[in-house]
Amino acid sequence: MNLIECIMTNSSCYKRTTTGVPVGILWHDTAAGNPDLKRYVQPSKDDPDREKLLKLLGVNQYGNDWNNTPVEAGLNAWIGKLADGSIATVQALPWNYRPWGCGKGSKGSCNGDANVKNSPFWLQFEICDDAWSNAKNDYANGTKEYFDKVYKEAVEFTAFLCKMFNIDPNGSVQYNGVTVPTILCHADAYKLGLGSNHKDVLQWFSKYGKTMADVRKDVTAQLNQNSTIYRVQVGAFRVKANAEAYLKTVQKYFPDAYITTAKK
Ligand SMILES: [Zn+2]
Repeated sequence: MNLIECIMTNSSCYKRTTTGVPVGILWHDTAAGNPDLKRYVQPSKDDPDREKLLKLLGVNQYGNDWNNTPVEAGLNAWIGKLADGSIATVQALPWNYRPWGCGKGSKGSCNGDANVKNSPFWLQFEICDDAWSNAKNDYANGTKEYFDKVYKEAVEFTAFLCKMFNIDPNGSVQYNGVTVPTILCHADAYKLGLGSNHKDVLQWFSKYGKTMADVRKDVTAQLNQNSTIYRVQVGAFRVKANAEAYLKTVQKYFPDAYITTAKK
């Protein structure tokens, strides 16, 4: 994962949303067929890293990025292409800021609730897809190579958030009387009555045989991989007293060192 910070303080969402408590992660894709982060993400005018970020992201010459007051939407993060063509995740809102991402359904919104103090909400990010074709009204364009890259980035990023907020990737949350998976997509939120009528990410993912069940499985595997520790054995003794004496020496440098036994 390549995580870059570019908090979009000029956006309406940054200025007017409320803070809350992240309880899950909700995936989107833009359904626009434009993989470039610069289309959506630009640094704020007074960002101390503005020049550096513009170099990384590239410059949006049309001024239609989402760090603008007229855009009534906002995400915690974006995944897509940097100016050099490599893939990155860009944080665009603080993690405790409720996004304006998935709209509203009959039972409320995974964005959380402005009227509830410390409202639970789902952290949300957009993947800038390379696939949507307006002419064909479908995810007709795009490549598997790009999909695989952004999918991997999104899995790593989701695992990172799960770890930060102690979220079980296979868990669920009781929210507004609905059992909601901790990890879901916009289309899932719509089906649960907690989002507007959108088909992302399922419509795009189905082209490559991926489901949100795969996402949960891959995030779990990523978390397990993250928790692997590599132990280094530093000595072996036949006499217990010698082992204990050596442990004392090792513990000067590694206080957590301990003795195990093995038959040989
Ligand atoms: Zn969406």
